[in-house]
Amino acid sequence: TAQVLDGKALAKEIKEELKLKIQNWISLGHRAPSLRCIIVGDDPASHTYVKNKVEAAKYVGIDAKTIKYEDTLTEEELIKAIEELNADASVDGILVQLPVPETMSERKVCNAVTPKKDVDGFHIINVGQLCLDMPTIVPATALAVIEMLKRFKIDTFGRNAVVIGRSKNVGMPIAMMLHSDNRHDSGLGMDATVTICHRYTPKEKLDFYCRNADIIITATGIPSLIKADMVRPGATIIDVGITRITDENGKTKLVGDVDYNEVSKIAGALTPVPGGVGPMTVAMLMHNTFQAARTLRENTN
Ligand code: NAD
Repeated sequence: TAQVLDGKALAKEIKEELKLKIQNWISLGHRAPSLRCIIVGDDPASHTYVKNKVEAAKYVGIDAKTIKYEDTLTEEELIKAIEELNADASVDGILVQLPVPETMSERKVCNAVTPKKDVDGFHIINVGQLCLDMPTIVPATALAVIEMLKRFKIDTFGRNAVVIGRSKNVGMPIAMMLHSDNRHDSGLGMDATVTICHRYTPKEKLDFYCRNADIIITATGIPSLIKADMVRPGATIIDVGITRITDENGKTKLVGDVDYNEVSKIAGALTPVPGGVGPMTVAMLMHNTFQAARTLRENTN
């Protein structure tokens, strides 16, 4: 059976490392890194995500606060609030929990966060830098996937990797790092041979590409999309998907994109859901916040 790639345990390890680094940073005379999480409206999943992020931030020694708004807030008012945080020297990281209300342009909102404080890596400048293999702030979920491949020593050099899902915040940045050249400045290139599949990839082609893959990264939110007969024996599978379902006993639970029980008999290594990429995403957001704090500090010296 497949090795379980325990994201929860790895996230704990990364948070302990960060906690020490931040203690050390503070002992050098710096103030604690600080993070502001903006949430608009009352979507329960979004509130849970923000709560987890603020909790993890406090754990590692980041000063974190949630700023809540009613969904009657206008785009203009939100952008004004972001601009105040941009100008506030006591703030290092700003994130706006997505989705924002439909009355707003998500792109405009993401571009309102000043790039150096954009700990989600969604600003057009940070996305551009990522696509050019330049050092930048990388979206936390994508960074979580890359960090898991590295720390669990999954070889990607020249290997066949399939990324399923092409969203700009998840699938695209994962594919971007997987295919790129490790000699570039970002240090995040994985040198894999990458195929991107999406909703218009015919089912038989999805099967074909998956069966030829050494590494499958799936980020669709479709439960049981990846079945055992699509997986090459020994392949590594990273399951980014999170879907809340109600099981036969009427209980709600979270599942990924992978038919876990069957696929774990065939795969070489596999991430669980929950307890895989989810906790790692939160840990990498903390990494991004500390990185932003250090970069801002360097620029004021
Ligand atoms: P999205 O809805 O923006 O994108 C889904 C992608 O799946 C699209 O690119 C679409 O083309 C593709 N897709 C849909 N049906 C498909 C099919 N039948 N075959 C192949 N591809 C198909 O979602 P997203 O924001 O990219 O998130 C993807 C999943 O990852 C969701 O389940 C989300 O909850 C989860 N997610 C997890 C984390 C984490 O920390 N683990 C973070 C962000 C998102």
